[in-house]
Amino acid sequence: MDMVKVILNGKEVETFEGETILNLARRYGVEIPTLCYYEGFVNGSCRICVVEVNGRLIPSCITKVSDGMRIETESARATEARKTLLRLLLKNHNHRSKEEQMRCRICDYAVKYGLEPAPVISDTKVDDTHPAIIFNPSACVMCRKCVIACSIDQSNDVIAVIGRGSGTRVGFDLDAPMGVSSCVSCGACVDACPTGALMEKDWVPANKVIETTCPYCGTGCQVEYGIRDGRVIWARGSYGHVNEGKLCVKGKFGYQYVNSPERLTKPLIRKPGVPKGPLNGRPIHEVFREATWEEALDIIASKIREILGKYGSTAIGGIMSDRSTNESIYAFQKFMRCAVGTDSIDQSATLCHEPSAWSLATQLGYGAATNPIRDALNSRTIIVVGSNMNETHPVIAAYVKRAAKQGAHLIVVNPIHTELARYAEYELLLRPGTDVVLFSAMAKYIIDMGWYDREFISKHTEGFEDWIRSLDVFTLDFAEEVTGVPKEAIREVARLYALERPSMIMWTLGITEHENGTENVSALINLALLTGNVGKPGAGLMPLRGQNNVQGGADVGCAPGRLPGYQPLMDPAVRRRFEDAWRCRLPSFVGFRSTEVIDMARRGLIKMLYIVGENSIRSHPDSKAVAEALSKLEFLVVQDIFLTETAEYADVVLPAASAALEDYGTFTNTERRLQLTRKVVDPPGDARPDWWVFTELARRLGYDMGFRSSSDIMRDIARVAPIFGGLSHERLEREGGLQWPVSSESSSGTPILYADGFPRGRARFRVVGWRDFDVVMERLYPYSLIIGRERAQYHTATMTSRSPILKVIWRGPVVEMNPEDMRTEGIEDGDVVKLVSPAGEVPARVRASSRVPRGVLFTTFHYPELLANALVPAVLNPITKTPAYKDTWVRIEKIK
Ligand code: SF4
Repeated sequence: MDMVKVILNGKEVETFEGETILNLARRYGVEIPTLCYYEGFVNGSCRICVVEVNGRLIPSCITKVSDGMRIETESARATEARKTLLRLLLKNHNHRSKEEQMRCRICDYAVKYGLEPAPVISDTKVDDTHPAIIFNPSACVMCRKCVIACSIDQSNDVIAVIGRGSGTRVGFDLDAPMGVSSCVSCGACVDACPTGALMEKDWVPANKVIETTCPYCGTGCQVEYGIRDGRVIWARGSYGHVNEGKLCVKGKFGYQYVNSPERLTKPLIRKPGVPKGPLNGRPIHEVFREATWEEALDIIASKIREILGKYGSTAIGGIMSDRSTNESIYAFQKFMRCAVGTDSIDQSATLCHEPSAWSLATQLGYGAATNPIRDALNSRTIIVVGSNMNETHPVIAAYVKRAAKQGAHLIVVNPIHTELARYAEYELLLRPGTDVVLFSAMAKYIIDMGWYDREFISKHTEGFEDWIRSLDVFTLDFAEEVTGVPKEAIREVARLYALERPSMIMWTLGITEHENGTENVSALINLALLTGNVGKPGAGLMPLRGQNNVQGGADVGCAPGRLPGYQPLMDPAVRRRFEDAWRCRLPSFVGFRSTEVIDMARRGLIKMLYIVGENSIRSHPDSKAVAEALSKLEFLVVQDIFLTETAEYADVVLPAASAALEDYGTFTNTERRLQLTRKVVDPPGDARPDWWVFTELARRLGYDMGFRSSSDIMRDIARVAPIFGGLSHERLEREGGLQWPVSSESSSGTPILYADGFPRGRARFRVVGWRDFDVVMERLYPYSLIIGRERAQYHTATMTSRSPILKVIWRGPVVEMNPEDMRTEGIEDGDVVKLVSPAGEVPARVRASSRVPRGVLFTTFHYPELLANALVPAVLNPITKTPAYKDTWVRIEKIK
């Protein structure tokens, strides 16, 4: 990069050729007005950023510096030009409210340059059809930032410039009211609009703004929250490593849960004689009484001592929340292992991506995504499999859609049609549960055609020959018959993946939540190793994590047998090191996963459970069995921000602070990036951060964990786990998020894993088999029920159902069914039917949907009115104990 010298407002400064004048000025702290400027994209339509360069007026946002330039940002000619432009913009420009005027940069600049701001006319005609956003065309100056935000940056393609001549305007879906358009409510247009023409309906100015990490999915978007009178009043995307200002509807409008009057504010203790179970409308005070922290913690500590005395530490288990911080999760596992003496601790990975983590760790070395999310923009081929990412990970989908628009080959593989497929070159609609066959057939075809990477395989892998032999059965004809995907498409997709490199594979729970989830993931890893698509920019294997900190939860050791930094509990040298560092005796047995622990509780083997932020009744399979298990416990502690359905079974309920908004610490996103989460507001009432509670309980049990702040905990993590050796809160404050491994202070993290080889020496091909469906079961239960998610809801909706705007946008408790199947079954749209599986039956309202093919149904587990997980059979992946949610087969019975 050539360095050049320029004169900026009379001072000589150095910069690199190619930087824009606007960027240069900003780096040197010189403010230049902007309206249409959109970081990362060329616009250059408004000209408010004109500066004088060597006597000429030019727009600074699109002009690159060159050696010897004399730049004047506030020369008389430049300011006069801005004033002329402002006068033109202020014509036909008015606001509907004072608040809208406060959001208008034109009005701000008008005041700065001595002009009158635009008037407020309260009866201005607006489009207020959207539940959260209002559009005032009279304030719009056609700067087109909303078009870039919606249709280029977010690739949602809702807003466009429409009309001609004086009728030119921005429109939604060409010309629909915003509220009935295909708007996905991400709020990007609102955050981008410089005039307030598009803004939140109830916006008011904030007293302060604090940046933190979104509390919802594993993307890890950075968000700025506006705070007024101690309450969060709005959110907007900030320019973080991951999201570059983008948010989805949950990040933008899902913060209101934190202000909910239903928040738990005091420890609660079950009243004597009140049976455990659903409140069924009873007021909380009839079931629980309020207590002080002292009393609640003393009761828990004495109950732990009693159960340890009676049954030993094998009778106690814990399930920790992945919505909590790394620091709190680390404190939990240390408390459970050192103070209680049990290794039966787990987090939600077992319920979702543990098959990804296990297969990636076993075959490559680390149980995590290999590349950064934004690397999708460097891929030439992207396969998205088992993922409705437009709904589950909208910001990641934005990058994938943009990559496709820029020419990458996008292949979408899923049993149901997804919105993402609109951008795909190939959509493979495969029969549910046949992923191994499809990907093994692709591998066999690549080998047959000689398209594999011989050099990579011989230098970096083992087990190739054994694996090749196992592929004989996976011919294209066999794959077409089993998967339902035409063999021509399999051939072409295999060619693109092998030859149009770098190629990336992304997946979510459509791959992992099967009895053979580890095999599914291994089939993808084998394909990447075969073609050398690992350890390179634009390539790699990307499991997209569902919860904000599910990656971190596993990283810091909240899993049976795995100490922080993926160090094995039963390795004698590792044990010694941890016992010295923690000054405690570690459990001498590998504990049980959450799915096993629940079953053990049902069988009377587990007597006490400590559940933090996990609504197990609704998130675990076979809800009836979970309820039975929780009822049988001698003692149940639930720590949460709301009284969930699970908390209704608790003996003691502890009020937690919201990790994302009321605590300080870190979350690790799906690309292994640790990012800070900051205290935005105070927790309500007596609610406390999770780590504080575990520290206090450990102290009561005679073990001082030595934590006085969450920064102490991060120091402890860095001390015991080499992959975090160079991390501290201070460093993250200074440098922003970093991707592990960050082994030392001098390491700047590892964006791409395995670029320098594999930690286990060689990566391993894994032979994976496939078992055909049970024909009898298929006759009895002919529909594959896909239990997924929808964009505006999250998990069991504990938080999203307390965010009023998200509640307006939700799709509701329905099961989607193909209209042809409905005709065959004699069902009308809106009918209530009974879904019956071998595990149970639930009533559900049917909605006709052409996105599900015949023989497939789709629903979510967000709604208590439709307990979809009650239908999931008690079948677990034999290695990771992950429930086979996606192997749920049902029949439909009409309700008379
Ligand atoms: Fe939050 Fe995920 Fe949405 Fe980003 S994509 S705003 S992290 S929920």
